Amino acid sequence: SGTLYLVATPIGNLEDITIRALNILKDVDLIAAEDTRETIKMLNHFDIKKPMVSYYEHNKAEKGNYLIRLLLEGKNIAVVSDAGTPGISDPGEDLVRLAVQSNIKVSMAPGPVAAIMGLVLSGMPTGRFVFEGFLPMNKKQRKQRISDLKDETRTIILYEAPHKLTHTLNDLYEALGDRNITIARELTKRYEEIFGCTLSQAVDKYSSVSPRGEFVLVLEGADACELDMKEKRKWESISIREHVD
Ligand code: SAM
Repeated sequence: SGTLYLVATPIGNLEDITIRALNILKDVDLIAAEDTRETIKMLNHFDIKKPMVSYYEHNKAEKGNYLIRLLLEGKNIAVVSDAGTPGISDPGEDLVRLAVQSNIKVSMAPGPVAAIMGLVLSGMPTGRFVFEGFLPMNKKQRKQRISDLKDETRTIILYEAPHKLTHTLNDLYEALGDRNITIARELTKRYEEIFGCTLSQAVDKYSSVSPRGEFVLVLEGADACELDMKEKRKWESISIREHVD
């Protein structure tokens, strides 16, 4: 059978494509793209002409089986997502599962992941972290998911769409208290912004400016938050004492 190649593409800056990614895209028989319009722009930029099929959330069941049939017939297929690493918060995950189940060789041209870039730039501990992707929109599941994070001591990474950002920051603040957050916006793009503050400050900021662009949220884990609070209380008590003196 053929090989399924997961090909990471830039998350904003086209210069982040790898030489290997370009070679694979040139060599395969077919490219399965989450958003064919976005991918065609990138392929045109690098002068690559290749047949493409769309493979995204709402056709992944039917298209997945079709792609597996082609792979079993010996075709080599590259899968690319909207941006970044296919398989991270996009349907690439399902295609890999199907390929693994069918004993098809899966290979990868690694590249940018917005979550990892946000984490590293946050300056928060990277030794242990959890990636939570997008929070569910279903009220009950969402509440449960956020409440599960209360005692999470590892650094927490979330993805969020701009129109849901304010809502999510509010929910996080209400459930987790005023812990530190880094908001990494428009990574690798012209207006990249890394904004470190507390959750209440983030809520304030985005109640006056409407959020635009793409966002990664990096939240301090529970232990660090507790330590910070202790530190704050210590300083508060010191300053109160000074005041009394
Ligand atoms: N597969 C992608 C990856 O490797 O990062 C993620 C796909 S997910 C559908 C899209 C989300 O990733 C966005 O809503 C945003 O949270 C995050 N994201 C993607 N590109 C970004 C960027 N340039 N800056 C900040 N966040 C980004």
